[in-house]
Amino acid sequence: MVEFSNVSKTYNKDFEALKNINLQIDKGEFVFVVGASGAGKSTFLKLCMREEVPTTGTVTINGFDLNNIKKRKIPYFRRTLGIVFQDFRLIPDMRVYDNVAFALRVTGTKEKEVRRRVTHALSMVGLLGKTQSLPKELSGGEQQRAAIARALVNGPELIIADEPTGNVDPQMSLEIVELLNAINRSEGTTIIMVTHAHDLVKRFDHRIIALKDGEIIADGYDKEQILPTLEEDILAEEHAGYYAAPREMGAVEQFIFSYGKSDDAADAPDAVSDAEPDADPFDDPADEPAEGGDEQ
Ligand code: ADP
Repeated sequence: MVEFSNVSKTYNKDFEALKNINLQIDKGEFVFVVGASGAGKSTFLKLCMREEVPTTGTVTINGFDLNNIKKRKIPYFRRTLGIVFQDFRLIPDMRVYDNVAFALRVTGTKEKEVRRRVTHALSMVGLLGKTQSLPKELSGGEQQRAAIARALVNGPELIIADEPTGNVDPQMSLEIVELLNAINRSEGTTIIMVTHAHDLVKRFDHRIIALKDGEIIADGYDKEQILPTLEEDILAEEHAGYYAAPREMGAVEQFIFSYGKSDDAADAPDAVSDAEPDADPFDDPADEPAEGGDEQ
């Protein structure tokens, strides 16, 4: 479950990138987040991943109070997420199987369990025939499917997909969203997908949250009503030759390492006691308040 309550995010002391955001996304929902460049989508995702903390208001994700979570618990929180990036972010010198297995191995999962889960994830995305391929030997669509397998291998409660179709052709784009849709249905995984691709959004009946200048201007299911309000902005971007460049979110290796280590990868966050991650190279600009307040 995702809950934003009166959330604002100010950069450089006076620029409000998000203004008084209130929303709730229930377990099992599939939500598109749309809006022109600069609307605040990336900031919204960073708050969801606890790469940033709100300037005011509270963010609660998967039962974790992200305002007050202790730094050493952040890896456990992040294990409840799967992230899919626009530019795939597979590790280039690792085969597909190992890319997907990596997130499990860094948490100390036994190889037998790794094999079981990786096989399940790769079969869900239809890549069992490519387990020994390197990323460069795959098409863009296949690379994104491998990245989706990596995102789901941990059995996350929430998958965050940041422009997942931005680097693949239209036919493959539809397949990528259909795949996320299938995961949403079969695994009950909550999906938040940020996208510019209104043509794709129109093909589904999912909830749409529209951002503009840091505010939610629409939140609902009425695509005929919601999407046209943004199309002028998107067209203006296209005229300006705008290209949705991959976002800076820190390398995926760092993100996965930020899951931290534990003896039992399957442990629930609540069951985790003092297991301090051995290494947390994730550069978290939002650490400061992490030691105060209640933890999950
Ligand atoms: P979107 O993802 O919709 O393009 P962002 O969340 O990236 O929007 O950005 C919203 C606004 O906040 C933009 O005007 C952007 O320039 C600004 N912004 C984003 N990140 C920072 C930052 N780290 N420092 C200062 N301004 C930022």
